[in-house]
Amino acid sequence: MGKFIFVTGGVVSGLGKGITSASLGMLMKARGFRTANIKIDPYLNYDAGTMNPYQHGEVFVLDDGGEVDLDLGNYERFLDTNLTFDHNITTGKVYSAVIEKERRGEYLGATVQVIPHITNEIKERIRRIARDYEVVVVEIGGTVGDIESMPFLEAARQMQLEEGRDNVAFVHVTYVPKLRVVGEQKTKPTQHSVKELRSLGIQPDAIVARSEDPLEEGARKKISLFTNVPEEAVVSAHDVEDTYEVPLLLEKEGLPSYLTKRLGLLEREPELDAWREMVEKYKSLSEEVEIAVVGKYVKLADSYLSIKEALKHSSVASGVKVRIRWIEAEDVEREGTALLEGVDGIIVPGGFGARGSEGKIEAIRYARENDVPFLGICFGFQLTVVEFARNVLGLEGAHSTEIDPQTPHPVVDLMPEQRGLDRLGGTMRLGAYPVKVKPGTLAHRLYGRELIYERHRHRWEVNPDYIEKFEDAGLVFSGIAGDDERRMEILELPGQTYFIATQFHPEFKSRPMNPAPVFRGLVEAAKERKFGG
Ligand code: GLN
Repeated sequence: MGKFIFVTGGVVSGLGKGITSASLGMLMKARGFRTANIKIDPYLNYDAGTMNPYQHGEVFVLDDGGEVDLDLGNYERFLDTNLTFDHNITTGKVYSAVIEKERRGEYLGATVQVIPHITNEIKERIRRIARDYEVVVVEIGGTVGDIESMPFLEAARQMQLEEGRDNVAFVHVTYVPKLRVVGEQKTKPTQHSVKELRSLGIQPDAIVARSEDPLEEGARKKISLFTNVPEEAVVSAHDVEDTYEVPLLLEKEGLPSYLTKRLGLLEREPELDAWREMVEKYKSLSEEVEIAVVGKYVKLADSYLSIKEALKHSSVASGVKVRIRWIEAEDVEREGTALLEGVDGIIVPGGFGARGSEGKIEAIRYARENDVPFLGICFGFQLTVVEFARNVLGLEGAHSTEIDPQTPHPVVDLMPEQRGLDRLGGTMRLGAYPVKVKPGTLAHRLYGRELIYERHRHRWEVNPDYIEKFEDAGLVFSGIAGDDERRMEILELPGQTYFIATQFHPEFKSRPMNPAPVFRGLVEAAKERKFGG
């Protein structure tokens, strides 16, 4: 069985516990340990699939089709690994499993309780994953003291007892505010949240202090004294320019070496050169292009987190910084495409529902008519088909039946076998599916392969009845589903400099050292447009 590092959070939410956990996992992997991260989400939802991105940020999709918390995206990017649905444990999953077992009579007449039945189920799920790894970093979502996270903290406490102290460590992430009037870092909130944690039977081994400026020596000493954590294990995680710098900061602060010692692991020199180089390169970029993202959740940047990250990865690879102009699609409906003027590229991302869809269609039209480099994703792909149908083929009122069920030209529609299903959860085409890429196309130049696997999250499809009409008018479907030739996966317009859209979500597989090809292509086209070839 592997070693466990539990990461808890105190004081306030949104401290970057996810990035801390991802960084810890990455630093253990960099030492050569087989490492995985697990995210615990104490909400009652079974998974993130039905959650509004406005509340929790984007819904991330895994190869196996799991719809999970966006932190799993951070883990995959930081560790350059592929995780599974089981790496995201929710209260919903735990309770439904326990209730199902109860109905099957598996508890043999016992009274089913939070302790031990729920806590056992939690431990079992964590251990099942740990079988394949040497180190498992388990992030417990929420803040210590929340009612929802109690059973998970209790399970973690029990695990330390059962696995032995040498095999389980606790890292607590807290907030150290600086009050402007006194100009001093305040440790009291940290003291209180550690007290709360200890009242649950958990003594943290290390404290990660989130603060604006580096942690002052006085504050470090005070935290150490009041929390019973050695000074060397109270580390400063002050604000940095970019999240990819966090592992380097934690390494410098000595946190991973402290934890390897604490867990009796052989300390090894971490392999961080490539990562360091990537961060340096990103920070040194001076030229900049501007890319518009026209969406409907733009007020919460986390709702498009993977898109933001994919652009960053492409930045490093293409040697140009990307500034994102976030545009609310409804604003385009009200104020017109003047909002897009001056951008070097346009992305219309995935989405659901009518709100803002006409604005997105206008943005696509603007990209096509002005030859602005364009990338459409999922809903953005479907609306590109709608735009083309209306404005090139002249099919007035063409639409997706998702938005307009009565449209005279249902150019985007459900497949016959999907009609009549009305459950929202679990009825989508989810996860990695093969896509066949047509030789000689832009898509093929970008991927350099004829068979790719990309992640999906959608119900609607290009209506097969219209495909010939589209192709006759110059639209090229350069990718089709490898498992079902009726499904269109990639489209492009050869007359344009860079105009491509995908039914799948390329952003979910983009990695810091290996950007998603269609994003990289977009950034390179934007660079060429602005600075010349
Ligand atoms: N709403 C569209 C569908 O269900 C697109 C989904 C998406 O963009 N993720 O097919």
